Amino acid sequence: MTVTRARKHNLSAASWSADGRSIETGDLRDAGNHPYAANVFSPAVQRERLSKETYERLNETLASGAALDPSLADEVAHAMKEWALEHGATHYTHMFQPLTGLTAEKHDSFFEPGRDGEAIARLSGSELIQGEPDASSFPTGGIRATFEARGYTAWDPTSPAFLLENPNGVLLCIPTAFASWTGEALDAKIPLLRSMDALSNSAVNALRLLGDHETKRVFTTVGPEQEYFLIDEQYYFERPDLVTTGRTLFGARPPKGHELDDHYFGSIPERILACMLETERELVKLGVPVKTRHNEVAPGQYEVAPIFENSNVGSDNQQLTMQIMQNVARRYGLVCLLHEKPFAGVNGSGKHNNWSMSTDTGTNLMDPGETPAENASFVFFCTAVIQAVNKHQGLLRASVANIGQDHRLGANEAPPAIISIFLGAELDKAFESIVSGEGSGVTEDATLGLGTPVLPPLPMHGGDRNRTSPFAFTGNKFEFRALGSSMSIAFPNTVLNTIVAEAIDDLADKLKARIDAGEEVGPAVADVVTESYSANRQVCFDGDNYAEEWHAEAQARGLKNLRTTPDALPEVIAPATVAAFERYNVLSRRELEARFEVWVEQYSVRANIEAETACSIAKTMLLPAAIRYATEVDAARIEGVAAELRSLVEQFVTRIQELERANVYPDGLEGIELAEYARDEQLVRMAEVREVADALELIVADDLWPLPKYSEILFIK
Ligand code: ADP
Ligand code: MG
Repeated sequence: MTVTRARKHNLSAASWSADGRSIETGDLRDAGNHPYAANVFSPAVQRERLSKETYERLNETLASGAALDPSLADEVAHAMKEWALEHGATHYTHMFQPLTGLTAEKHDSFFEPGRDGEAIARLSGSELIQGEPDASSFPTGGIRATFEARGYTAWDPTSPAFLLENPNGVLLCIPTAFASWTGEALDAKIPLLRSMDALSNSAVNALRLLGDHETKRVFTTVGPEQEYFLIDEQYYFERPDLVTTGRTLFGARPPKGHELDDHYFGSIPERILACMLETERELVKLGVPVKTRHNEVAPGQYEVAPIFENSNVGSDNQQLTMQIMQNVARRYGLVCLLHEKPFAGVNGSGKHNNWSMSTDTGTNLMDPGETPAENASFVFFCTAVIQAVNKHQGLLRASVANIGQDHRLGANEAPPAIISIFLGAELDKAFESIVSGEGSGVTEDATLGLGTPVLPPLPMHGGDRNRTSPFAFTGNKFEFRALGSSMSIAFPNTVLNTIVAEAIDDLADKLKARIDAGEEVGPAVADVVTESYSANRQVCFDGDNYAEEWHAEAQARGLKNLRTTPDALPEVIAPATVAAFERYNVLSRRELEARFEVWVEQYSVRANIEAETACSIAKTMLLPAAIRYATEVDAARIEGVAAELRSLVEQFVTRIQELERANVYPDGLEGIELAEYARDEQLVRMAEVREVADALELIVADDLWPLPKYSEILFIK
């Protein structure tokens, strides 16, 4: 018998060395050398290349949030094309974000044959403004029957166009929205833009009542912190589960204690750092303001965070960040894993969505400020957030639901499936003192100028942190921590903006009624805040969110605990969701139902792919390895080993058969019922197969085991 080693040593990882790939960093003290936004059709480039009149009209339109005058488009398109050609672009694409959560593009060449056979480069205003991708292959949740497959993309002038460089060519990317021919949103951007408008209107209206007569627009802001893994690509390609599902479906845990403390904030290995530097350089050229990088908790896990931007641009840039991270990693023989839980028993990856609201005059409404008047406004808007989060807990949970998240939320590493707010000791005390009407913590001059004690300046910065909270106030912003690493941030932000707009309007109505009835603004704010906070404080929790007691207490408080994706998704079409989203024209019932349908189907499809992949790996890779080893053990007549092995192999065969049976759908199941079936049958049987496989991995001869092991994947860098 010839014995070949099933698993290869990773010699390429061992022999990796810096290849001297130059990232062309010149002297960064010279402004001309700085790559920031070098590939962006930025306001600076526009000012240089557009006529003064067009540039000014374009900017007025963007600042006011009004609709774009199509007569501007021809000149903008021409300038954009010339700029792109000068930078080597040959094609352009309308980039959009269909309901898959990914980014889609359809490339068109600039060049057309002219009359004399020469090539003419063109991009007309109408081509800039509108495109018509063959939309039949994108999910629509039944909005558009495939026989009328028309959908169109519409230029979003509020998110700048940019150039994507590929070693073999340059592509002009035009951020666009994607809608059906009947005007329904088929993407993630349209509702986000609509929710930003809704929040702006509500906030400006409330600011007027609070005495602000200058602010014309309020922008929501976002700074997403992205966690990810980098692993050597040889391991990736040797693992069919990683390739087809993005996570390992098998793998015994590495020895305990292997998650060494010094990985977090420890020094970054050279190859990883080289990859990060090039990724950042690419992102900076695209105008993504990346700022921090460090190791995360798990071996092989890292984090990158940008400076915050308005929600729309921040969301586009976040999509771009995920794409660039994955592309650049390959140049270093690495693969970037964005799955929420690539390795069982090892910390998963999330995305912290830092969210706030800023006025066009530059005031952050979530900054407690230094003066009592700023405090009143801060307390008012903060109360609106608390009210919104409490009312729409289930929807927020649903906005971060996907199959990968089900391994994280509620496990002892990520925020739980129960949505609650961490305010921090200072803010807690402040709210409690407003509600009790006592002046504890309230200083003499901390009044609204109207004789009512409101709040002292709040020393909010400092070590007041709670890592376990899914929704935490962190000094001058709220941090929604429950997002998954692979997700588009567009929908969670759409939800936040919409529900906060609704709460602001509710509080503003009450405030106005009191003012109209003759109450002074100061006391009126205090009364409105007291009433709302008292009704919603149940959602505030400062303790350990991982603790079992919290689950019991949350239940006693009546908070929702939606553990899995099929539990959570129905919140997308719950009556309170439909009412809020229709009221602000963010999404109609039909558009919400479409999303529900698409996301439920995505869950079932992904569960099925996992279950079938697991079955195939177990049957065709792991079982044969175990049987080969059993043959050797039998030949050696070592009874102690043979008995244990035989019993595991027999169990393995039985469980594989059970999984195979579960993988045949019962007749007639569809929609949410199919998703529940996938969760309760396919995924459960799959976990049972894995249990035996992982036990086998620990006894089968290492040279026969066909899959790279966790200890290799996570520790060889
Ligand atoms: P920390 O999480 O330690 O507080 P930072 O203060 O640097 O770290 O912020 C983390 C993230 O929060 C960054 O991506 C940052 O851009 C973002 N952020 C900071 N201020 C705001 C804001 N006003 N709105 C939205 N995001 C913000
Ligand atoms: Mg953070």
